[in-house]
Amino acid sequence: MLNVPSQAFPAPGSQQRVASQGRSKVPLKPGRSLMDWIRLTKSGKDLTGLKGGIIDVTEEELKKHNKKDDCWICIRGLVYNVSPYMEYHPGGEDELMRAAGTDGTDLFNEVHRWVNYESMLKECLVGRMAMKPTVLKDYHEEKRVLNGMLPKNQVPKNQDVVDTLPREGPSTPSYDWFQTESSVTIVIYTKQKNISLDSVIVDLQDESLRAEAVIKDHSYLIHIGLSHEVQEQFSVRVIENVGKIEIVLQKRENVSWKCLGHPLEKHNSLIPKKETGLYYRKCQLTSKEDVTHDTRLFCLMLPPSTHLQVPVGQHVYLKLSVTGAEIVKPYTPVSDSLHSDYKETALPPNKYIYFLIKIYPDGLFTPELDRLQIGDFVSLSNPEGNFKVSKLEKVEDLFLLAAGTGFTPMVNVLNYALTYMSSLRQVKLMFFNKTEDDIIWRRQLEKLAFKDERFDVEFVLSAPSSEWNGKQGYVSLALLSEFLQRSLEDSSVFLCICGPTPFTEEGIRLLHDLNFSDDEIHSFTA
Ligand code: FAD
Ligand code: NAP
Repeated sequence: MLNVPSQAFPAPGSQQRVASQGRSKVPLKPGRSLMDWIRLTKSGKDLTGLKGGIIDVTEEELKKHNKKDDCWICIRGLVYNVSPYMEYHPGGEDELMRAAGTDGTDLFNEVHRWVNYESMLKECLVGRMAMKPTVLKDYHEEKRVLNGMLPKNQVPKNQDVVDTLPREGPSTPSYDWFQTESSVTIVIYTKQKNISLDSVIVDLQDESLRAEAVIKDHSYLIHIGLSHEVQEQFSVRVIENVGKIEIVLQKRENVSWKCLGHPLEKHNSLIPKKETGLYYRKCQLTSKEDVTHDTRLFCLMLPPSTHLQVPVGQHVYLKLSVTGAEIVKPYTPVSDSLHSDYKETALPPNKYIYFLIKIYPDGLFTPELDRLQIGDFVSLSNPEGNFKVSKLEKVEDLFLLAAGTGFTPMVNVLNYALTYMSSLRQVKLMFFNKTEDDIIWRRQLEKLAFKDERFDVEFVLSAPSSEWNGKQGYVSLALLSEFLQRSLEDSSVFLCICGPTPFTEEGIRLLHDLNFSDDEIHSFTA
C-alpha cells in the first residue's frame, strides 16, 4: 500500500510548496492533497456535472462557464469542468480561474506543460471543442512523399542548408527515403547546421516509426505506420555540417517496398517544443544501488527499438501508475559515476540511463519508484530543458552551486567541462547538504579533486555534527564571495545553480549582488 500522507500535503514549509521559476504554491486545505484528489476521481462521483456523456462545446458555451462553482477550461481541444478540482490545485484557485471559460492551453503550456492533466482530469472531461469548418488539408502531397517521390525541388541541396534561422522559427525540414535489398533509409533534411545525435529521438513501436528532430525550440516529427516489418534494431547517423539525419532500418524480408507507409498523427510537422506533448517509452529497471542513506542510483534500460540520448544538463520525466493514476516527476540523468579519467567512451552505453534519486518516505512518487523490482518497467519521456553546452564555450572559470539532489545536473556538466572545454582553467563545486551522511558521491568528488588539478570541491553543511571542521551554514554572501575567486582578473566566468527553490532563488540574488550578470548564470528548473 502507498504511504498516504495523512496531513496537508506537501507539508507547510516543504520546498515542494514552491514551484520552479518562482511560482508559489498555495497551502492546500487538509484533505485536499493529490492523493485525496485521486481518491475522489475513483469514487464514482459525477465530476463533470453532466451525468455522463461527452458533448461538443462551442466557444459561446465555454465562455458561459467562468465562475468558481461552474468553471470549464479547454486544454488542447478538450474541455474540462475544473470546479471540483479548484481546492486541490497546488497553484491555487485564482491561478485556475485565469483560464475560466477560455482556452487555457497557452497558460497551461507556460506553467506546467508536463503535468499529466489527461489522467488527472479525466473524470472532469465535459467534451471537445466543436470545430469551426476549416479547409481540409490536401493529403496528396503527403502520399507522394511517403511514396518516395519527393519533387526534386523540395530536396535541399547542400548549398540550401542554412545555419541561421528566420526570426519566426526554423524553416520546415523535409524528408525522403530510399532502399537497398536489406535496408530502408529515411533521410531528414533539417536545413540546420550543427544538429547532433542527441537532438534526434527515434522509437519503433508496433510497426510504426516516430522520429523527432529537435531544431532550436521546435520539434520536427516523422510519424509513419511502416508498410512492411522491420527489425527492432536500427541505426541513426547525423551529418552535422549539412544538417542531415539518416535513420537506417533493417528489413525483415528482402522485398522491395513500394511505399514507406502511411502518415500517422502530426506526421511531417514542425511544432514549437512547448506545444508538443511528452512522448514516453517503457524502460526496464536493471539495477538499484544505495548511494547515501536515502539516495539511490537507478539504472534504466531503454528498449532496443529506441534511440535517445539526454543532452548535458537536461532532464526527463518518469511516469508511474500510483493507485491507478499516472504520476509524472522530472529527473536528471547522470553518468554512472564520476570518472577521474573521464573519456567519452566511459559514458554508459546509450542503452542505459542512470539517475540519482532521493527517496522521500512521505513523497508520492519516490516510494513507489523505490518499490520497483529489477526487471519492472517505468515510462521515460523525451528530454527537456533549456541548458545548452554552447553556453560553456570559451568559459575559463566554471562555478557549480548545488544543494542536495540539485547536484544531479552538475554531474554531466562537470564531466563535460573536464573532457571537452579546452578553454577551462578551473571548475569549482560548492555542495550544500544537511549532514555528512547526505553528501552524494563524496569520495568520488574528493578523488576527482585530487587527480585533476582543475577541479575543486567545497562541502557546506547546514546541520553538521560536532566533528565537522569544514564550512557550515546556508548559502550566504560571505561563503560565495570567498568561493567565487576568478583564476584571472578578467577571466570569462559561468555559474550553474540547482537545489531547493528557495536555495536557488537566494543564490541567484546573492550572485547578482556580487555583480554576476544573468548571462553568466544558469539555474536548473523544470
Ligand atoms: P513529493 O510528494 O513531492 O514530496 C516531497 C516532499 O514533501 C518530501 O519532503 C516529503 O517528505 C514531503 N511531504 C510529503 N507529504 C508530506 C506530509 N504529509 N507531511 C510532511 N511532509 C510531507 N530529484 C532527485 O532525487 N533526482 C533528480 O535527478 C531530480 N531531478 C529533478 C529535475 C528537475 C527539473 C526538477 C524540477 C526536479 C528534480 N528532482 C530530482 C525532484 C523530483 O522531481 C521530485 O520532486 C522528488 O523526487 C520528490 O518527489 P515525490 O513525489 O517522491 O515527493
Ligand atoms: P535538502 O537535503 O532538503 O537540502 C539541501 C541543502 O540545502 C540543505 O543543507 C538544506 O538545509 C539547504 N536548504 C534548504 N532550503 C534552503 C534555503 N531556503 N536556503 C538555503 N539553503 C537551503 O535538498 P533535497 O531534498 O535533496 O532537494 C533538492 C531539491 O533540488 C529539490 O527541490 C529538487 O526538486 C531540486 N532539484 C532540481 C533539479 C532541476 O531543476 N534540474 C534537479 C535536481 C534536484 P536544511 O535542510 O538544513 O534546511
